[in-house]
Amino acid sequence: MPSHQPASGFAAKDPQYLSPEKTTGVMAKSSEPNRSRTYDPRKPHITDTPMTKANWYKHVNWLNVTLIVGIPLYGCVQAIWTPLQWKTAVWTILYYFMTGLGITAGYHRLWAHTSYSATLPLRIFLALVGGGAVEGSVRWWARDHRAHHRYTDTDKDPYSVRKGLLYSHFGWMLMKQNPKRIGRTDISDLNEDPVVVWQHRHYLKVVLFMGLIFPTLVCGFGWGDWLGGFIYGGILRIFFVQQATFCVNSLAHWLGDQPFDDRNSPRDHVITAIVTLGEGYHNFHHEFPSDYRNAIEWHQYDPTKWSIWVWKQMGLAFDLKQFKQNEIEKGRVQQMQKKLDQKRSKLDWGVPLDALPVMEWDDFQDQAKNGRGLIAVAGVVHDVTDFIKHHPGGKAMIKSGMGKDATAMFNGGVYMHSNAAHNLLSTMRVGVIRGGCEVEIWKRAQRENKDVQYVKDAQGQRIIRAGNQVTKISEPVATAGAA
Ligand SMILES: [Zn+2]
Ligand SMILES: [Zn+2]
Repeated sequence: MPSHQPASGFAAKDPQYLSPEKTTGVMAKSSEPNRSRTYDPRKPHITDTPMTKANWYKHVNWLNVTLIVGIPLYGCVQAIWTPLQWKTAVWTILYYFMTGLGITAGYHRLWAHTSYSATLPLRIFLALVGGGAVEGSVRWWARDHRAHHRYTDTDKDPYSVRKGLLYSHFGWMLMKQNPKRIGRTDISDLNEDPVVVWQHRHYLKVVLFMGLIFPTLVCGFGWGDWLGGFIYGGILRIFFVQQATFCVNSLAHWLGDQPFDDRNSPRDHVITAIVTLGEGYHNFHHEFPSDYRNAIEWHQYDPTKWSIWVWKQMGLAFDLKQFKQNEIEKGRVQQMQKKLDQKRSKLDWGVPLDALPVMEWDDFQDQAKNGRGLIAVAGVVHDVTDFIKHHPGGKAMIKSGMGKDATAMFNGGVYMHSNAAHNLLSTMRVGVIRGGCEVEIWKRAQRENKDVQYVKDAQGQRIIRAGNQVTKISEPVATAGAA
């Protein structure tokens, strides 16, 4: 495959392309959508003062506590004496999915990641139902989410799971956050979308209407259940949608596997996917954020992906972005390799060849004569003293090789030993014979640094492929001196 690396003649930096006023700051600008309009970046923020018994209430974001905890609690109490009609129940579930999709397909995949494009009617629909989930405006939400992707797990991540599971779930909203701390992101594209700008400007009206009034009207005009529509379709549905989508920030960074990268916290899990309308394949998502899918397998649960696909068939969505399967598989293989390296580093592969002492042939024979169980195979000396009684081929056979060059015997002359036998033998190696064919060649190549026949793992250990042990000789040789 052709490489896309620039050729060596190109300069990495070309002055004519460098802008004179290059911005280097990474903190939030005052023009970016912060949570509080009264925020003044020049005054010290409450989060700059440590929390004490006297000032703790100043650290609490009381508006969010009311919206996320207070009103849902009120709804739960009201539900005790509000009978649930089945039509209201069906509508509540339906509206739950619609408002949930507003967040996952709208706020998240369309606006935060631009993983596809949507026509005006679809954008208006998503901005409305997304508003009905009561999770802030698109503009504010997408800004924080882009910071989350850019600064995952760091202090600039608005909902870093490193600060605790509950913090990443909703603690970050219940407590005041210093807007200067949140990493800076570019939302210029969102400022150019009139739907986003309109929704941000009229956010309170959108929230009140789509969150509470609209579901109440549907149940009221539809089948006369005004109170049920308000309590179930409004308040409790908001509560469930919020808790479900908050799981993307908490559960998806805490539960499951990491098939693509394990340096950060995002994880893949089917439970998170079920809870979050398909946002549970979060390890994949953080690696390939501009892919309109979260689940890449057909059998994985991702109703958000399915919805976007259906909208495409209806002509409402287009330019669905998808990473090349080749790139996805590369990431997966690299992560598998990393796991494999970790596993192999825990195993005993014997003393590395280049760390073995060099032994004279006479010393080798002398020691063997005096009772040390030394056997030379392919120029490597092995001490098999403790193994004699365990030798599957019997004591006599292994003893017959002691003090000798057993290369041919070991490699089919007497018995063609298995790969496992070569592996086991390597754990017994104690030295290399001076002039010991294979090993000498290998060690010389080492010194001259031109051995390209093997690769090393992440720990710098030589990787021995099955059947490639140094003691394995493809063609049986008569003596070690033959080379
Ligand atoms: Zn995340
Ligand atoms: Zn995302």
